[in-house]
Amino acid sequence: MMKLLFLVLSFFTAAGLSAQQRQPNIVFILTDDHAYQAISAYGGALAQTPGIDRIAREGAIFRNSFVSNSICGPSRACFLTGKYSHINGYKLNEKPFNIHQAVFPQQLQQAGYQTAWIGKMHLDSIPFGLDYVRILEKQGHYYNPVFIDKQYKTEKQQGYVTDIITRFSTDWLDNRDTSKPFFLVVGQKATHREWLPAPEDLGAYDDRDFPLPPNFFDNYAGRAAAKDQDMTIDKTMRLAEDLKVHVNYDKANDYNRMDSAQRKIFKAYYDRISQAFDEAHLAGEALVKWKYQRYLKDYLSTAKSLDRNVGRLLDYLDSHGLKENTIVVYASDQGFYMGEHGWFDKRFMYEESLRTPFLMRYPGTIKPGSEVNGMIMNIDWGPTLLDLAGIKPDPAMQGQSFARLLTGEAQQIRGALYYHYYEFPEPHHVHPHFGVRTSRYKLIRFYGQLNSWELYDLTTDPHEMKNLAGDEKYAKLVKSLRAQLTTLAVKYKDQEVVDLLAAEK
Ligand code: CA
Repeated sequence: MMKLLFLVLSFFTAAGLSAQQRQPNIVFILTDDHAYQAISAYGGALAQTPGIDRIAREGAIFRNSFVSNSICGPSRACFLTGKYSHINGYKLNEKPFNIHQAVFPQQLQQAGYQTAWIGKMHLDSIPFGLDYVRILEKQGHYYNPVFIDKQYKTEKQQGYVTDIITRFSTDWLDNRDTSKPFFLVVGQKATHREWLPAPEDLGAYDDRDFPLPPNFFDNYAGRAAAKDQDMTIDKTMRLAEDLKVHVNYDKANDYNRMDSAQRKIFKAYYDRISQAFDEAHLAGEALVKWKYQRYLKDYLSTAKSLDRNVGRLLDYLDSHGLKENTIVVYASDQGFYMGEHGWFDKRFMYEESLRTPFLMRYPGTIKPGSEVNGMIMNIDWGPTLLDLAGIKPDPAMQGQSFARLLTGEAQQIRGALYYHYYEFPEPHHVHPHFGVRTSRYKLIRFYGQLNSWELYDLTTDPHEMKNLAGDEKYAKLVKSLRAQLTTLAVKYKDQEVVDLLAAEK
């Protein structure tokens, strides 16, 4: 009898829910385009992020966290549905998400949770399963943004977007029904282009000279798709709109929304930058390097405002008795290039955009300072949260719970991951591709206008510079990874890929 009782209790503990404990609250901070390279907990030397690092220190950092389609809207759709883009139908950005399908917040709602999404959602439709919605209209603006509610009613706000979203989140927490557990998504616009920090962070990194990534001047030899993209800092990043050199304050996105006091601060700063730029007469390599420095300064100062708000939210939770029974997650919708391969943006299956930061705090279940190395994906986030809330995830979800990784009970939940990207040619001319990644190797297949295979050994070539796919020595490995890729395409019902691979046999 005692043994049986012990087993039952162990089971509940494994699922993160002790027999006596109430269902956990969930705060999910979902940011946009925030690269793990820009987070100090991940070992990035670019900037200090004490707010996010606190989640790593008090909880777990996931060292191998990935997305299934590295682009904004589709990634959020994967999160909500726990399914790949070819199943949830949201393959490309800027298409309305089909709300007539199951999303996991509905399951939380049915189990008695209050559910809310505050801040950026950008799906051009509002999914079911959310009791409260106060989201940015479309992409949103860094200054004086417009929000919409569940009835699509708009309201213009005064101030800086990251601060406003945090305030709206704590306002909602203040006014919630305390008799019920809650699920709150804090969707941040930062660090999406065009990067604008809070006024107090403007110029925060002006005294820094950032080192160039080792493959900044990549010549893309042996990699046709990498050569054919349109997302380099050199050619694609715009001096005016992105880096604010002589930006047109009346026309440019965000500046034309600032009030005179806000505009005065930014104009003084960027006029000084523009003047220095004019005097330097830069060209060629010197110009690209200058753009890289400006890019990082703008991006990281925007991230600094974001990080301060993460700390602010944690302070709120801790001072309102919400530390112990609340799961806090920090994640981005995908990774981002910080100059690797000479790029900004995302999309490619190469590491910097395939990976996304993921950190979780859940006292009692996750030991402070935990490191999780097992591979997880964004389609797993929903099933894991449901599992931790003691709810059986909808079996139609393609992701799986990684709750067992949190307690150290398991080291891996999958041996290989599957990826599929679609959006082409606009806006960055990244050819569609799919692929498989194991802990050591990555096999990518570009299709459509291109018809090429790429193979990387991540142990010997972490920067993915040497495509081994055509090398005879690796023919056997390519064959076995290709078989693994087919198995995964079948498993995830990606018929387009199944057919394409079958036709070539
Ligand atoms: Ca994004």
